[in-house]
Amino acid sequence: MDKELSGLIANLKRRNIEGIYVPSREEARVKIKQLILKRATVGISGSKTLDELGIVALLEAGSYEVFNQYKAGISREQSLQMRNLGCRADYFLTSCNAVSEEGELVFLSANGQRTSGIANADNVIVVCGINKIVPNLEQALKRGREQAATLNCKRLDWKSACLADGVCHKDICFAPEYKRMCCQLLVVESEINPERLKVIIVGEDLGF
Ligand code: SF4
Repeated sequence: MDKELSGLIANLKRRNIEGIYVPSREEARVKIKQLILKRATVGISGSKTLDELGIVALLEAGSYEVFNQYKAGISREQSLQMRNLGCRADYFLTSCNAVSEEGELVFLSANGQRTSGIANADNVIVVCGINKIVPNLEQALKRGREQAATLNCKRLDWKSACLADGVCHKDICFAPEYKRMCCQLLVVESEINPERLKVIIVGEDLGF
């Protein structure tokens, strides 16, 4: 692990957040399974990072109860129920939009499921590829909106103001003709409960 990553892990620790470095996505999958107790309930947020890791299939094949709001064939009501259960699960798995070298974590959310899970679950595991590490909070906020959210809008064909040109137009994105993705912004500066919040830093690019 290089000096910058060691510094990030130390800065997370200073904030009562455990940072765990793994070199590859395969080791990230192993680490996630190690961290989650058998028979636990698990909530997930929509995340390209988690998709790339194949986390849902991995957990559903194991001894866990996964509240998967994206499960094929379920109704909208069932999906909403899964989301709500996931926010209060034993473990909530998500990814961040950016992390500063100082250890601040940035999350944007459209409907608040991600932010609710981070606030309410008994344990939170955030997975973060090295492509999401930026020097400071200002850059993390900028990355979250101008890179992660714009690419996610494109990926999901989300009818926001950035869909056409891939450029954030946050000042007009409230207008009724748009469906804004960046509705809630959460910056985690610290964690009060020791052991509750863990960040797995993966030594590969993952997600947007
Ligand atoms: S245009 Fe709207 S949805 Fe797109 S990145 Fe900006 S604030 Fe988010």
